[in-house]
Amino acid sequence: PYMPLDARIYIAGHRGLVGSAIQRGLIKAGYTNLLLRTRSELDLLDPNAVRAFFEETRPEHVVLAAAKVGGIMANQTYPADFIRENLVIQDNVIEASYRNGVDRLLFLGSSCIYPKLAPQPMPESCLMTGPLEPTNRPYAMAKIAGIEMCWSYNRQFGTHYLAAMPTNLYGPGDNFDPATSHVLPALMRKVAVAKTSSNGELVVWGTGTPRRELLHSDDLARACVFLLNLDEAKFGSFLSEESPPLINIGTGEDVTIRELAELVARVAGFQGPLVFDTSKPDGTPRKLMDVSRLKALGWRPTIVLEQGIEEIWNLVKDELTA
Ligand code: GDP
Repeated sequence: PYMPLDARIYIAGHRGLVGSAIQRGLIKAGYTNLLLRTRSELDLLDPNAVRAFFEETRPEHVVLAAAKVGGIMANQTYPADFIRENLVIQDNVIEASYRNGVDRLLFLGSSCIYPKLAPQPMPESCLMTGPLEPTNRPYAMAKIAGIEMCWSYNRQFGTHYLAAMPTNLYGPGDNFDPATSHVLPALMRKVAVAKTSSNGELVVWGTGTPRRELLHSDDLARACVFLLNLDEAKFGSFLSEESPPLINIGTGEDVTIRELAELVARVAGFQGPLVFDTSKPDGTPRKLMDVSRLKALGWRPTIVLEQGIEEIWNLVKDELTA
């Protein structure tokens, strides 16, 4: 691997869905020198605190997985928080990384950076080719600024910063709060509740026709470790003047929200009806990643969606109704 097993690697956001999976992935790969700070130990919104942390600990590589994230309703309710917190966190961490000689930095975002009506599947090259989906535009604009920042620092300062955009994720430690969660954990909670009542129904937001691609966070983590460890020639292929240092991470396959709800119902052993609440937004009709760039480098996901849902369901089912 490019990064020796004792490399000092800072994971910003190691308590989150993405960061915690990357922490597990790096430990599993044998890394022994992970730098981790909780939110109360290091406020990433505070530039002085971030600078002091980098000067003191001197990370060699950085995974930037700290972000303000949430489902479709959270994004609509707190648009100012979503743009500001993401801009400030990434500005602080990227600038401190540059000032302190960080070698490789991996900046995490999501597929909603691509235009609402992007070609499907969406290649990296469709960035900035059309208007964004309004429900998560503030988050997406911040993340696009982060990609531009990585690219600009690479060009001006010769840094090695890469932006990895995962598709919709799920995994251990997900947010199961019905008001702010993404669709899969929301459905798990709803089905758990529906199962406890004799005539329960599974209420699905929207029409059920949007399509979503879902990736297990452990697969994402494997992809991130893989990218950070690419040899210099392969990593160097991202450092071009012509195109941003950007790579999609996904499975290349998607399901409808209805199919997803049916899958959750099957795994949970729920036999009641599905009801579609069309007063709630559908969001983007489809956002399937074009993952040919990642595949060409030799990476493939390993976790089948139904197995992944089963794993998470078994982890959380008892807590969801408690
Ligand atoms: P998105 O992928 O950014 O649109 O965010 P979500 O994961 O929140 O929503 C994905 C899709 O699932 C949208 O079409 C939602 O309307 C639909 N959906 C169905 N039921 C739910 C639910 O209970 N919670 C959420 N968050 N989305 C739901």
